[in-house]
Amino acid sequence: MDESCKICQNAQDNRFHTAREMSFGLRDQFIYLECGHCGCVQIVEIPSDMQKALWEKFLTVTSVGGIGAVTRAPIGATRAIPETRRLLEQCMKEVFAIARSREIALADTIVADSMTFIDTLAADGTTSLQRDIIDGKPSELEYWNGTVVRLAREQGVAAPTNEFIYHSLLPQEKRARGVDASSP
Ligand SMILES: [Zn+2]
Repeated sequence: MDESCKICQNAQDNRFHTAREMSFGLRDQFIYLECGHCGCVQIVEIPSDMQKALWEKFLTVTSVGGIGAVTRAPIGATRAIPETRRLLEQCMKEVFAIARSREIALADTIVADSMTFIDTLAADGTTSLQRDIIDGKPSELEYWNGTVVRLAREQGVAAPTNEFIYHSLLPQEKRARGVDASSP
């Protein structure tokens, strides 16, 4: 691990902080360095293929979040019930197809790998998207499943499961944002 500041190269009195990714709820650990000289806070290891890393994450969180929001159930239930497990896989396959059409270098096994990862999550796990929706708050729906739907259209890829999720949750999302959806 490189223990010097990327900005001023100082290597003395640097402090390290471990942060967990919380917005997606995946709790991945990242180590940040706080420079003892210039005070800059920076991530220590930048993922080598940022596009790929982001798409891998996007594939998992939009699927877990979207299915969790529609079913109102924690991951332990949706991954165990065969019908909702298939929905999770279907969501991921749609994102995979979009990524491939954009020439993102996702592995052929990404859907299976992501399901294996999902099987390791705590059974009572939920995402911030799902929690906001259950609480009737404005959520990140537009940036998650809404974005899957938009990108699928752009790429000419079918994404019926994500469309169903996005469209089903839109009325509540509009209400939470104070938009009167009953008038044109
Ligand atoms: Zn520095």
